[in-house]
Amino acid sequence: MAQIRIIKDRCFECMACIDNCPSKSIAFEGGKFIIKDNCNACGVCISSCSFNAIVFDEGQEIIQRKREYRGVFIYCEHENGCIKDVSLELICKGREIANQLGEELSVIVIGHKIDNIAIELTYYDVNKVIKVDNSLLETFNEYLYVDVLEQIINVFNPQIVLIGATKYGMALAPGVATRLKTGLTADCTELEIENETGLLLQTRPAFGGNLLARIICPIHRPQMATVRPGIFMPANKEFERKGFIEEVPVIINKSEKVEIVERVAKESICSSNAEIIIGIGKGIGKPENIPMVKKLANKLGAELGATRAVIDAGWMDCSYQIGQTGRVVSPKIYIALGISGAVQHTAGIISSNTIIAINRDKDAPIFKIASIGIVGDVMEILNLLLDEI
Ligand SMILES: Cc1cc2nc3c(=O)[nH]c(=O)nc-3n(C[C@H](O)[C@H](O)[C@H](O)COP(=O)(O)OP(=O)(O)OC[C@H]3O[C@@H](n4cnc5c(N)ncnc54)[C@H](O)[C@@H]3O)c2cc1C
Ligand code: SF4
Ligand code: SF4
Repeated sequence: MAQIRIIKDRCFECMACIDNCPSKSIAFEGGKFIIKDNCNACGVCISSCSFNAIVFDEGQEIIQRKREYRGVFIYCEHENGCIKDVSLELICKGREIANQLGEELSVIVIGHKIDNIAIELTYYDVNKVIKVDNSLLETFNEYLYVDVLEQIINVFNPQIVLIGATKYGMALAPGVATRLKTGLTADCTELEIENETGLLLQTRPAFGGNLLARIICPIHRPQMATVRPGIFMPANKEFERKGFIEEVPVIINKSEKVEIVERVAKESICSSNAEIIIGIGKGIGKPENIPMVKKLANKLGAELGATRAVIDAGWMDCSYQIGQTGRVVSPKIYIALGISGAVQHTAGIISSNTIIAINRDKDAPIFKIASIGIVGDVMEILNLLLDEI
């Protein structure tokens, strides 16, 4: 069934839509437009038409199906009995979105021996906590968690599902979206509801942070997004709140693909929740200077990160890499030591509250995004800082 419709009265037959359709789904034959069945509702033709002559064709079937999807659902991530900050941030944003839509906000929590977490979640402004507790779910296992989340979504039919863009969220969300045959916008930095349509406008950086792409999921449901940690305010806890916990029965088959033998915490890798991160760039000169940076990190209670140039040189383990192909961090303070500020690196730090950069080149691109810039030799300044702190 056609997913778009061309409004004849507005069309100037410029053929831009035909040229731009990535799947060659539009043809013009015998003076008529033909929309082929392989149209996947990507919306490219709509953006390419300068005359607003193309709209999504919401046939009765689609309108009816969309009406059946109600509510905003948050996937709650937790570790060692603690709710992750990103989930509290999503509850806060989710509440705002749910209020705007006039719908309910629910939180899904999956794991084992998670009664306390479920109870704690009721202290936040949520309508319902949906809990799945099973010993097979004690440790995050992508295959089992995708199965469980898919089943929950199929029971409740939410119209929006939000998941933290953490390493677990980024493993979980694409699997679930694929199973549900819906869209997913990864790593969003802004979420809004469009007044006229009620659609979720999902904004994320694109092209190394040089552009902000606004993405919608107009036809399929639920609308799914992963959201970058540290972007939204966390929700407030109020012990007087009395929430509702619903335990949902799901089918859990032991995963044959992955068996968790033991969990070993990796030492001191850069955490996306750290408040202060010191980024090490090639400008520190040599790996022998890293212990001095560690000394500063210890004094400030900071964690370390690094550029790809440092990783490629073999100075630090790749788990420290920050940027487009590394971790995305959003600390309160990011201190860039001898970092040039290539877009591939700044894509991973752009959401930091304050960026302090030290570089001997006054024209280094890092200074364009730094709140505080110090021009000088990084090791000399490091020595001065260590003396002062
Ligand atoms: C597809 C792709 C993906 C990439 N992904 C990433 C990524 O995820 N993360 C990432 O970081 N990079 C990534 N890169 C690499 C990126 O383009 C840069 O090459 C890299 O970030 C540069 O690292 P750097 O700033 O440490 O080194 P350099 O570019 O060598 O810069 C060193 C800086 O230190 C300054 N300096 C030198 N000596 C001193 C001194 N004594 N005192 C003070 N300042 C000094 C210099 O002025 C310079 O600005 C990617 C590249 C590609 C092509
Ligand atoms: S791009 Fe718009 S105006 Fe041009 S042919 Fe397509 S529908 Fe008509
Ligand atoms: S919505 Fe996408 S696939 Fe469908 S006709 Fe337009 S450009 Fe082609």
